[in-house]
Amino acid sequence: MIDKNYINSIIKDGENPTHEEIQIILDKASKRIKLSHLEISMLMSAHEETQVKEIYNIAGKIKQEIYGERVVMFAPLYISNYCVNNCKYCGFRRDNNFPRKKLNQEEIKEQAIQLEKLGHKRLALEVGESPKETPIEYVLESIKTIYDNSSIRRINVNVAAASVEDLKKLHDIGIGTYILFQETYDVDAFKEMHPASIKGNYNYHLNSFDRAFEAGIEDVGGGVLFGLADYKFEVLSLIIHNEYLEEKYGCGFHTISVPRLKKAEGMSLEDYPHIVTDEEFKRIVTVVRLAVPYVGIILSTRETKEMREELIDHGVSQVSAGSKTDVGGYHDEIEEAAPDQFELSDERSVMEVTKGLIKSGYIPSYCTACYRKGRTGDRFMKLAKSGEIGLICEPNAIMTLTEYIMDYGDKEMMALGLEFVYEHAETIKNQTVKGKLKENIKKIINGERDLFF
Ligand code: SAM
Ligand code: SF4
Repeated sequence: MIDKNYINSIIKDGENPTHEEIQIILDKASKRIKLSHLEISMLMSAHEETQVKEIYNIAGKIKQEIYGERVVMFAPLYISNYCVNNCKYCGFRRDNNFPRKKLNQEEIKEQAIQLEKLGHKRLALEVGESPKETPIEYVLESIKTIYDNSSIRRINVNVAAASVEDLKKLHDIGIGTYILFQETYDVDAFKEMHPASIKGNYNYHLNSFDRAFEAGIEDVGGGVLFGLADYKFEVLSLIIHNEYLEEKYGCGFHTISVPRLKKAEGMSLEDYPHIVTDEEFKRIVTVVRLAVPYVGIILSTRETKEMREELIDHGVSQVSAGSKTDVGGYHDEIEEAAPDQFELSDERSVMEVTKGLIKSGYIPSYCTACYRKGRTGDRFMKLAKSGEIGLICEPNAIMTLTEYIMDYGDKEMMALGLEFVYEHAETIKNQTVKGKLKENIKKIINGERDLFF
């Protein structure tokens, strides 16, 4: 699926596009017409300032048309930093010498409760790879512990490349999205970054989503760790991977994550010649938005508040908030911290991020209804492409935000948030939905929970 020579030739052919060529591509993109590989390559090489601004604007417009004001909220939960792999960029790699930690079920329950107290309903479960310490049974038990003991309603799982058999078990226990970053699609860089390890098998890693679909999982989340290889190569590969999945399974990525390489214990950013600049990073996100308009784009707290705010305006649809990347990182008291997987750049609390979004006119959404109502895989994509999803998601986002305000809001949030949800409810065009929504907001204020369309 990933042909290095082909992709490199497309990058070369796309260098130095003319003003007219870019205008034609922008026109196509703004009508949401599928772009060719060469067109995507050209967009990444566009150099005229006004045209670059236009790329950002169209990405923002597409995001607005498809997602409205909604921004989905989640948090990562690290349950073990045992790892048999030696990924050069990662603080958890086996050569890093520190006391390893894996949470027991009681501690996982405690973490879930802490996350619930922050208002989260959706998690990304993060686990290092260690067949001995954290076999699939441990992951399954942990998922069950979280679902049984908290109001967390969707657990997306970011575990190592797994077998069909293990993926079936994950599917059966009811995970949300199966997330796995390819890290880099460049086979040579992949081998260099993953020396002598289970993860070092490029093809096994690349074919993970084929196994996931075979196992019955319908929502898969791809991603690249930007900074390991040429970003243009990575973006084109992501798009080609998505096309491959769409063609073969009728459904591509549910989400794409765009983590950027950060400083971690035992590595120096100076050793990475492909680090992407802020401008390049913005181009990556906006071009991905134009190339795959319906795919969720996830941005983590690896990025600064300023970068996150700017990219939410131009394509990002999901953000993590209040994140900790150390094992057992969510607690009330200050405890001796376990090592972080990497450094974070946005350390604001969930409440601060939520308020910030509201003040900018966005609806922070704690909704998990689609997954629970079986709107996954191609059924979700069909709804998204027809625009019908907005009719469901917008009221659901407003209701879950109302829950958040009532359960976790401080004085400022109460005042700011409740006015905001009523204002937004008024903008719903479908009168039946609007009426039901306003009724439900009242019910939530009076104590009812978990209402959704
Ligand atoms: N261990 C599993 C794996 O590697 O697929 C689970 C996910 S790992 C805990 C989460 C992700 O963190 C990795 O896939 C990698 O892309 C990212 N990561 C590792 N080191 C990083 C760094 N220094 N900066 C930013 N992201 C990093
Ligand atoms: Fe282990 Fe994942 Fe870190 Fe690699 S990225 S060292 S597999 S935790």
